[in-house]
Amino acid sequence: MAITPTKKIWMDGEFVDWDKATVHVLTHTLHYGTGAFEGIRAYKTDKGLAIFRLEEHTKRLLNSCKILGMEVKYSLEDLVEATKETVRINDVPDGCYIRPLVYLGYGEMGVNPQPSPVNIAIAVWPWGAYLGDHGAANGVRMKISSWSRHSPNAMPTASKTVGGYVNSGLAKVEAINAGYDEAIMLGVDGRVSECTGENLFIVRDGYLVSPPPSEAGALRGVTLSSIHRIANDLGYEVHFESMRRDDLYLAEEAFLTGTAAEVVPIASVDDRIVGDGSPGPITLRVQGIYNQAVRGQLPQYESWLTRV
Ligand code: PMP
Repeated sequence: MAITPTKKIWMDGEFVDWDKATVHVLTHTLHYGTGAFEGIRAYKTDKGLAIFRLEEHTKRLLNSCKILGMEVKYSLEDLVEATKETVRINDVPDGCYIRPLVYLGYGEMGVNPQPSPVNIAIAVWPWGAYLGDHGAANGVRMKISSWSRHSPNAMPTASKTVGGYVNSGLAKVEAINAGYDEAIMLGVDGRVSECTGENLFIVRDGYLVSPPPSEAGALRGVTLSSIHRIANDLGYEVHFESMRRDDLYLAEEAFLTGTAAEVVPIASVDDRIVGDGSPGPITLRVQGIYNQAVRGQLPQYESWLTRV
């Protein structure tokens, strides 16, 4: 998905012109992958732009850095303010995707990340539905990947680690090349973990089920937690239970959740049609509420929004 440039990128406390926001080719993260990032969205609301669950995302960014042993010299409040400022300064009236990145900069080489400077950048740009408008409306075709999700003792799965996305990239390419939209990854123990950039839910016996993030080696998604609350508010129970691939094949409904993708129905898994192949009623209800909540249309979820 092509990037539409905006005006300025926040880099270590300063706004730099989009075209000048570059790094040296010997930037440590570029070689060894130690770094962490976030994906956040700002939406257009009746009262101007609002960033959805900014504090939770920023907290997860700092937690990712903690896991990786990267010392960030900015506080949660500093980064929240810098993110708001970056959205404000760029001309994105219809909303944008926000990408904060903590990376190890130029100065030292070698696998040991500790001597390298810790740098931070925050960029924003307008970004449409990550899996396409057609996918969000009609459902996506999923393939169980031949790549396992990495084991938490090989790569910490609670951290959005830059290098960790090699695993996601391999699974994504395999799925796309085989004619599918997205991959579902199983953990090394064969249990369902997550997708390449999304968590997933199924509907079974009328309640929602999602793999327990720590046990399944999945990222603890902010969207997942929003859907948990929305589903409960609608009167649906949410169970965190480990599942196998046949649970996916037999699901009454299934959908994936992520900041970039939002809530996307799953039409099929390994060519087994989910339900009747069209988005199920519970999926449509939670998707509808989510789409309204992020746009500030539901007062009960107002606390999730940070006005910019
Ligand atoms: N899993 C992975 C691997 C991801 O990259 C993402 C996107 N951040 C998610 C799940 C969903 O997380 P969130 O809902 O916080 O965007």
